[in-house]
Amino acid sequence: MKAMVVQKWGEKSVLMSRPDPKPGPREAVMRVRAAGVGLTLLNMRNGSFGGEAPRIMGHELGGDIVEVGSDVTEVKVGDRCAVYFYLTCHRCRWCRGGRETLCEAFKGFVGVHRDGGYAEYVSLPVENFLHIPQGLSYEAAAMATDAVNTNWHCMKERARINPHDRVLLIGAGGGVGIHGVQVAKAFGAQVIAMDVSDEKLDLARQWGADYLINVKHESDLVAAVKKLTDGAGVDAAIDYVGHAQTFQVAFDSLTTSGRAVVIGVGKGDIAVPTRPLMLSEKIVTGSRHSTRTELIETLEVMARGIVKPVIGMRTHFTEIESIFDAIVSEKLLGRGALTYD
Ligand SMILES: [Zn+2]
Repeated sequence: MKAMVVQKWGEKSVLMSRPDPKPGPREAVMRVRAAGVGLTLLNMRNGSFGGEAPRIMGHELGGDIVEVGSDVTEVKVGDRCAVYFYLTCHRCRWCRGGRETLCEAFKGFVGVHRDGGYAEYVSLPVENFLHIPQGLSYEAAAMATDAVNTNWHCMKERARINPHDRVLLIGAGGGVGIHGVQVAKAFGAQVIAMDVSDEKLDLARQWGADYLINVKHESDLVAAVKKLTDGAGVDAAIDYVGHAQTFQVAFDSLTTSGRAVVIGVGKGDIAVPTRPLMLSEKIVTGSRHSTRTELIETLEVMARGIVKPVIGMRTHFTEIESIFDAIVSEKLLGRGALTYD
């Protein structure tokens, strides 16, 4: 098969011929029909997720099952499936308790710790294949598996968004954030989008953001948020960037009982004052990807058209490096998509 292979982390992926994968007893092989690409993939390619190279990356995938292992009954040849990103144990307290992204016997990520789908075929444990609902395209299903379901988990379980809420999204114009705008709206919230360019904020407005804050045009970001909320602050602030500087803005923008959620992989620390935290019952927390159940919910809401994929660039999977180039030069708006025909 044709595959895009990263020979060494930090190097560009190159087109190579690889043997077609054969499924183990509890695995299935999918012919990949569509894939997604975002900043996470570039970070992986640069080695920040660990794992061993040479590696075929790619975890946001939709396709058709073409072969199943001897002990597989959950999927059959011809089934349309999307791929779940995490390789989990299914046995620990977190897996059994429905919080499998916290798995204590975690086996890693599809496309990092075993080969993913920037290739014509991918073989994975059967538990990593979930059916695509009727009417949802392979491409939309691929986007569901990271760019959208990550938001679904965040808004539903961590930020607990409801129609009373005003929500600040820091990095709302990015590949994940732009779907967060739609998911927060789906939960009934008013959305304040914060980002670094008018281009990204225009996109956020197109997808439903009610208010926009351009970081480059404001000297005091917290004051700008307070101004838009009658001095009160927001009920939830989601930080897609995850640096100390951005998370401080998230925390300082909260009103009574507000939730500050970090969802981006950044770095740094903030100091949380204990007394105001206690008196106003604020919550400071993180949000990590989504469970399988939440991915199934995400696929369902996308099949109903409630959340749509935002694709900024589309190319054949053998040209994936052109999407990485667009991410590096900050020219990609929304998610990158790969075709396979
Ligand atoms: Zn587990």
